[in-house]
Amino acid sequence: MVSGLRVSVDRERCTGTGSCVFAAPAVFEQDDADGRVVLLREHPEPGESDDVQEAADVCPVAAIKLHRR
Ligand code: SF4
Repeated sequence: MVSGLRVSVDRERCTGTGSCVFAAPAVFEQDDADGRVVLLREHPEPGESDDVQEAADVCPVAAIKLHRR
């Protein structure tokens, strides 16, 4: 469990695969208009950190960054 996790996404880099949404649907969704990632929560709950880490790991273009304080 990780505390103080902050997430950022690079929508310019995102190619809209949806892999992050599948891994962590509470934190990421896809924009209805262009299919790119939308960050729902910049500061996920501690219990979501594993899912968020998986989302970052599976993103094919490394558009998800995790920042730990
Ligand atoms: S996994 Fe990466 S490329 Fe795919 S929708 Fe999420 S941020 Fe975009």
